[in-house]
Amino acid sequence: MGLAADTVAIVTGAGRGIGAATAERLALEGAAVAVVERSEADTASTVSSIRAAGGRCVGIGCDVTATDQVEAAIDHTVEEFGRLDILVNNAGITRDNLLFMMGDEDWDAVIDVHLHGAVRTVRAAQRHMVRQGSGRIVNLSSVAALGNPGQANYATAKAAVQGLTRTLAVELGPHGITVNAVAPGFIATAMTDDTARRQGSDPAQLRKKVASKVPLRRVGSPSDIVGVVAFLASADAAYLTGQTIYVDGGPL
Ligand code: NAP
Repeated sequence: MGLAADTVAIVTGAGRGIGAATAERLALEGAAVAVVERSEADTASTVSSIRAAGGRCVGIGCDVTATDQVEAAIDHTVEEFGRLDILVNNAGITRDNLLFMMGDEDWDAVIDVHLHGAVRTVRAAQRHMVRQGSGRIVNLSSVAALGNPGQANYATAKAAVQGLTRTLAVELGPHGITVNAVAPGFIATAMTDDTARRQGSDPAQLRKKVASKVPLRRVGSPSDIVGVVAFLASADAAYLTGQTIYVDGGPL
């Protein structure tokens, strides 16, 4: 695939899971990467793995629920590497419960990180991308956007991310910026392990149970997602915008 030598990317929630794998893959493709995590200390493992592979990166502490921190993270990235080409909105949390037992705090927290977080980063990043006349934005949605019991907050946020994606594609297209979403199915990460434990099951058992229903008969891994993100960020996807690509091993 390969990215232009001066490409600069920022990935939120890149300290572990899909975000870490995405940051590592974009670095491998030639991008300088800002590895963003709520706490800068949590960027250390991704930063050292990128550097060990010969890549360029910087670790930045930034909570995507704080507008000032998001603006500072975007500015820091541009100061460090001179431009901004790719934004991957990956940071995420879950606060699962059936709606009648879900408090306002858990509703708001999930909407704030996934939806408002993406809005904040795009608003800060688009200033630079519009000036450059180019940019790639990739938002992490989820199959949960189609509905998932116990995840009304998460499903709503992930569906809203798809609406945001289509709208921004229209708004930013004239500036040479593409905006797409990737909607993973069940990907084995700390997030799905936590879900298993919350349900009182063993993470390995839940993976096995889910795998038996997925058409490709396995759960996904972060490496299944990063190739699609890298494609959307590459020159090969130059005329692709406003789309949500489901990466879920086949429809259930
Ligand atoms: P993960 O392992 O839990 O990683 C999420 C990362 O986001 C963590 O490093 C977390 O840091 C960070 N984060 C959370 N809140 C943040 C905030 N306010 N500011 C900055 N960073 C924050 O999750 P994952 O499975 O890799 O998921 C990554 C993305 O894919 C999420 O958007 C998720 O919704 C989506 N997705 C995942 C799956 C799946 O099956 N795993 C399926 C569909 C979609 P902390 O440690 O500080 O919380």
